[in-house]
Amino acid sequence: MSIRSRRAHRELHGYLEGLYGPQPTLIIREIPHEGAVRISLTVSGTTAIRPDPEDGQTYSSASIDRYAPEFVSLVEQIAARLVAIRSERYTPGGGLEPQDQSDAEYDLHADYYHLIPLASLEIGVPWIEVVRAVAEVLRREDLLDGVVSSQIKQKFASLRWYFDSKPRDFRDQINVIISAAEHLSTVVCETCGAPGRHRRGGWHVIACDPCDEARGRKRTKRVGGDG
Ligand SMILES: [Zn+2]
Repeated sequence: MSIRSRRAHRELHGYLEGLYGPQPTLIIREIPHEGAVRISLTVSGTTAIRPDPEDGQTYSSASIDRYAPEFVSLVEQIAARLVAIRSERYTPGGGLEPQDQSDAEYDLHADYYHLIPLASLEIGVPWIEVVRAVAEVLRREDLLDGVVSSQIKQKFASLRWYFDSKPRDFRDQINVIISAAEHLSTVVCETCGAPGRHRRGGWHVIACDPCDEARGRKRTKRVGGDG
């Protein structure tokens, strides 16, 4: 397995583990495509154990059940697409090709002209890739017609996606896909896109360990003065 493939497997596993805990039964397979830049993975078997409502923690009674098998499988699909999109930037030696913010915004807008008005994007490159993953799912499900975003931003360390228009007949179907993407965003580092988690402390962000350490160093420098 190449370094790029290994990274794709590791990241996909990392996202699902971040959302649902240890994943002993996860099955990740690579779909070989001769000469393709993207690494296409299929994933199934995510273990999503519903938290015990009696354990003292409170869970919001959201209208969408995040532990329902159909929802979990949607999260798996979007996560696999996110990895495929990210894999275009994986370098053979193990790094990540940087992507310019304006280019990422413009490319997404160019590919999904109606869904993504340029001014709607208020997120960094890693979450723009989450949005692209969703756009690909909507296109595959033939759900793009008449869907127009108004604002896509980060709020309380989660992706928030608002719409100007959404066809009534497909509203529920679209809402559940968006909800799966918002859920996935809570484990996608906002700085580099690697699997991360919610960090408190001043500003709520999703960060992977290295990016969080870098943030910590910056903070210390600002506070301490001599870094
Ligand atoms: Zn990071």
